[in-house]
Amino acid sequence: MKTQLKILSMLTFCLTGMSACSLLIDRDDIAYSDSDAVTNINATVETTPVLTSGDAADDPAIWIHPSDPNKSFVIGTNKKSGLGVYDLNGKQIQFLEGGLPNNIDIRQNVLLQNDSVDIGAFTDRQDNTVGWITISENGIEKFNQFPVKEEPYGFCLGYYANSVFAFVTYKTGLIEQYELTENDSLLSMSLKASFQFDSQLEGCVVDDERNRIFVGEEEHGIWVFEDIAESLDSPISIDQVGSANGIVADIEGLALYKADKPKLIASSQGNDSFAIYEATPPYAFVSRFRITGSDTVDGAQETDGIEVTHVPLEGFPNGMIVAQDGFNNDGKQNFKFAPLNIEKM
Ligand code: CA
Ligand code: CA
Ligand code: CA
Ligand code: CA
Ligand code: CA
Repeated sequence: MKTQLKILSMLTFCLTGMSACSLLIDRDDIAYSDSDAVTNINATVETTPVLTSGDAADDPAIWIHPSDPNKSFVIGTNKKSGLGVYDLNGKQIQFLEGGLPNNIDIRQNVLLQNDSVDIGAFTDRQDNTVGWITISENGIEKFNQFPVKEEPYGFCLGYYANSVFAFVTYKTGLIEQYELTENDSLLSMSLKASFQFDSQLEGCVVDDERNRIFVGEEEHGIWVFEDIAESLDSPISIDQVGSANGIVADIEGLALYKADKPKLIASSQGNDSFAIYEATPPYAFVSRFRITGSDTVDGAQETDGIEVTHVPLEGFPNGMIVAQDGFNNDGKQNFKFAPLNIEKM
């Protein structure tokens, strides 16, 4: 009731002619018509806001420290200026300036040039490349970049068949699979396979163990390719925008919760919610949730990229979800961290 009154008074204020009135509506006060069907979980940490205004923060990745999980950190793209690194309290501890990084993904303990390394990669829309970084407890460092077909958009990594694979998605509906190949000391990205969808793609995530990639077609739904070590064809539909499960365009970030029974999580951007599916056939819908606010941190709305981990971290005993927040209530965009207990959702 209190919330409804607050919104009503804001709307009245808007109707009296203030042009900036939309900015005054706290997105945390929105009442959703489907709230009975959706679980709320609370964000408990938010990151240092990005320095650039407007739609800027986009996609996160979570790096797990090899021996002290509480020294793990989150890397988040600022699609207008570079990559931010945030500790588990949300404090920015590094900013790697440069490029227009849109989506990012990482893999740890990858065998590369006879060394076990932690690496990440991101689509850079400044020069139409995939940029590559190394990751350690000291932070991130760029080590290479390779050109792709045209302006790249979504991105995810896979590590299977003893190789690192980079998947690039495009606004044209194209998805490409590149292999990171080694020739003596020289690395390169070679195109292995591609598939053409009907419309714009963005989010994707690979299940390395099961040789699958999940792909979001923004206005239409969620797909999976199986046996991707063999080829990239015959995508299977998991869910469609407008289905009874309640997902709404755009389908944005996708993330994989690793477990004996892994789960796929998808950002249903148009209704500020996240859908959970079984990540194994027949890819059944499980439930939806929202990331709402707590005493000190506002919730996540209009979320682009997400990432999840099952690794217990301080304050996140069953793992966590990191979600871009399109409307940070007290500043420019940022990322929200929320404890995730996926078995109970
Ligand atoms: Ca956005
Ligand atoms: Ca990502
Ligand atoms: Ca998008
Ligand atoms: Ca918010
Ligand atoms: Ca805030």
